Amino acid sequence: MRVLLLILDAFDPVRLSPHLTPNLWSWANADGAATGTGEAVMAACTYPNHASFATGVPPSEHGIYVNHVIRDDQVVGAWEVGPSVPTLFDSYVAESLAVLGDHHLVGVMGARAAASHWPPNGDLPLDIELDPLGYPADSAVLARLVAGLAEAARLTIGYFGSIDTYSHLFGPESEEAREAYRRVDGRIAEIEAAISWDEIAVIVVSDHIQNTVEDRPGIDLRPVVGEGTILADEGSAILIGATLEPTELMSVDGVAGARSLDDGNTLAWCEPGRFFGPFDSPILRGVHGNVATRTQLAMVTGGHPKRHLAADVVNAGPVPATAWAGVIRSMLDQ
Ligand SMILES: [Zn+2]
Repeated sequence: MRVLLLILDAFDPVRLSPHLTPNLWSWANADGAATGTGEAVMAACTYPNHASFATGVPPSEHGIYVNHVIRDDQVVGAWEVGPSVPTLFDSYVAESLAVLGDHHLVGVMGARAAASHWPPNGDLPLDIELDPLGYPADSAVLARLVAGLAEAARLTIGYFGSIDTYSHLFGPESEEAREAYRRVDGRIAEIEAAISWDEIAVIVVSDHIQNTVEDRPGIDLRPVVGEGTILADEGSAILIGATLEPTELMSVDGVAGARSLDDGNTLAWCEPGRFFGPFDSPILRGVHGNVATRTQLAMVTGGHPKRHLAADVVNAGPVPATAWAGVIRSMLDQ
């Protein structure tokens, strides 16, 4: 029994169709498959959700609320810190493979503990094609993933980032984003050719969707929180390095919600179409992080009979991002 968890960053489940994504459509309609939606942890950013995929716990336990953390009055990349609890890779040390098209995810998901991981040590390789935001291009990821699948690890986690990249740069409704969906779907056929269908359960998820930016510039919280307060703005969510009254933040135009966190910081999110500044980001056409972007793709397919353990979870309703680690353990351990 083997499990492949394939993560397609920012894949909006409404885009799943025989026209745009024929290979994924075929996977979704395979015998015993189940397709539905999942729900991101807040903030609906890439790293907190990947940390939850890998650990099975929410940000209050793994410690990553947005793509950065605030430590000793400094904004630090979540990949430098990693989740504060064990991950799937710790459970299946000798039997796991990670191929992650965002090198920072190696640290975020604790993938250095895997038997094999790429990019090595989470460092951006110098000799590969990069996407327009500077992450490993899907083509580079696919080559490593296909090679890795041939080695038949019991647990393989793969990640493609191009839909997120093109949705950020051109907007999630853009033709460029549609083309990214089409290209990612083309990779699915090559992955299918690299696996033994009857021996594997395949889980395909996304970490969030994106909203189109409709209002510029970004929301500036500095007049409310004070000039000296640390801000880690992440699209339509923001981490504030201070304990603040949620009601005070929600008095700011565009702020939709806020929550005080146990670690002394405050998380806030904005209305769809808005984003947090304070500065305009002219390259940003699509954003995520707020409640409106919590939708995830949740698909279970493959030919191994144990896939039903995961398919049942999908059929039961929106799958919390924290559920997948337990689902994977249940398939590998039973
Ligand atoms: Zn993402």
